[in-house]
Amino acid sequence: MGKEIRKILIANRGVTAVRVMHTCRDRKIPTTAVYSTPDRLAHHVFMADSAVHIGEAPPAESYLNMEKMIAAAIQSRSDAIHPGWGFLAENHKFAQMVIDAGLTWIGPPPKVIEALGDKIQAKNLAQKVNVPTIPGILDVTNVEQIKKWMKHDKVTFPIMIKAVAGGGGRGMVKVENTNQLVQAFAQARSEAMKSFGDDRVLVEKYIERGRHIEVQVVGDEYGNIVHLYERECTIQRRNQKIIEEAPSPSINDDLRKELCFTAIRLMREIGYTSAGTVEFIFDSSTKKYYFLEVNTRLQVEHGITELITGLDIVGIMIDVATGKKLPFKQADIHPNRWALEVRLNAEDPRNFSPSFGTITRLQVPQGPGVRIAAGAYEGADIPPYYDSLFMLLITAGSDRGDAIRVMDRTLSRNLRIEGVKTLAPLLLSIIRHPAFKAGEFSTRFIEENMKDLVSMFKEKNSEDEVLKIARYVAEISALGPQSWM
Ligand code: ADP
Ligand code: ADP
Ligand code: MG
Repeated sequence: MGKEIRKILIANRGVTAVRVMHTCRDRKIPTTAVYSTPDRLAHHVFMADSAVHIGEAPPAESYLNMEKMIAAAIQSRSDAIHPGWGFLAENHKFAQMVIDAGLTWIGPPPKVIEALGDKIQAKNLAQKVNVPTIPGILDVTNVEQIKKWMKHDKVTFPIMIKAVAGGGGRGMVKVENTNQLVQAFAQARSEAMKSFGDDRVLVEKYIERGRHIEVQVVGDEYGNIVHLYERECTIQRRNQKIIEEAPSPSINDDLRKELCFTAIRLMREIGYTSAGTVEFIFDSSTKKYYFLEVNTRLQVEHGITELITGLDIVGIMIDVATGKKLPFKQADIHPNRWALEVRLNAEDPRNFSPSFGTITRLQVPQGPGVRIAAGAYEGADIPPYYDSLFMLLITAGSDRGDAIRVMDRTLSRNLRIEGVKTLAPLLLSIIRHPAFKAGEFSTRFIEENMKDLVSMFKEKNSEDEVLKIARYVAEISALGPQSWM
């Protein structure tokens, strides 16, 4: 049964490349890294068994260059490719190219990626299997259609205009009133064209007090599909997640069951294999949930699911890609922890503008209940060309309070980063905020509380540390040499 994988090329960089390599090391599978010119000394390059230079800094010349990626695999004698997240992970043409080159694609089938990558097709599929979708219109070419729909269906502002091919929170415009409509529509279309080369948009009612809840699913080639429960990723900035937790604090067990089995129903319908995530938005005022989209790849926040279930999702992806059966059934999955993740982006915590340069100091947190996923080491550069994510801090405890306490310790006592700005001060303010602690927040939490959060910043002062050391040295010299020295 199945094929052997002898060597895996990871078509990515940073945190995700390093994460995939950890599992490969566990399994004694050699790895190939790819790198652009500014990444020649990057963490993932040192970690791999071999490394291939694939081009210059702009993603189109390196990490998005499909031909170079395939050539690198062949040149390095790799026989499988894992795409990580971002870059080519949800590119169905690339998945097909990998297969056509005789290599193993570690992900869902190209056809599934294609169907689910299109938000119209995905929504149609959801409706077909009776999964609730956000009220809206799918084929929109002019503003008049939107007005007609709003009048006919008695929809009130705000509404959301979304790129059909969108992802990563981009190509999404919220419209508050009629006056903004014409300009917002034009802006959404031009952004969609620029970012995704496709100017199709869809329109939806904007869900106020929304909470983002998603279900992790894994499937094999024999029709076995199992969910690994849900994650809540409501704390977002610009429609991008920055804090995630599992389980979700906003649903009860009945709703949890319903969401998880709804996700399975959808994924079974499309014949899903490998790891994937069904995203929902939950309206906490009406207690209704709606399908958002499916991410056909490993997600940034998969680690919290691994901590609560004890599974290795990258390992499952590799096994499924080699034709193995899932080694468990639904009844075998018993989460027994609460896990929390924060995304330590290299960004100014006051305004989210990217920060890059050399990490001059990096003291990585330790202690019970902590898992760190780093994409860079002390002395490494954060180049300006790519995603700002460079480290994930994940904590776990027996309940939500425990996981938050460990995260507080991790962010406030153990972490030292110098040379680049990070979101750490903001992340700490959020997890200390009474509303966060009470589990009462919506996707607009950050925009609504930004001033409050910034006022809670405690700038860490490295001078305090120097003083502490100086005092210690002074004490020792005053005491003179001790017997233990
Ligand atoms: P992407 O492909 O960029 O991830 P999603 O459709 O998954 O796009 O949406 C990302 C985020 O944008 C959601 O988690 C949610 O916060 C917000 N969002 C998307 N659609 C709506 C909506 N109709 N109403 C309110 N918020 C929305
Ligand atoms: P997930 O859905 O896995 O939680 P996101 O939707 O936030 O994560 O994005 C997944 C990955 O897509 C990011 O880590 C990054 O690699 C890429 N990505 C997201 N947003 C952007 C962006 N604005 N520019 C470039 N890449 C992005
Ligand atoms: Mg999404």
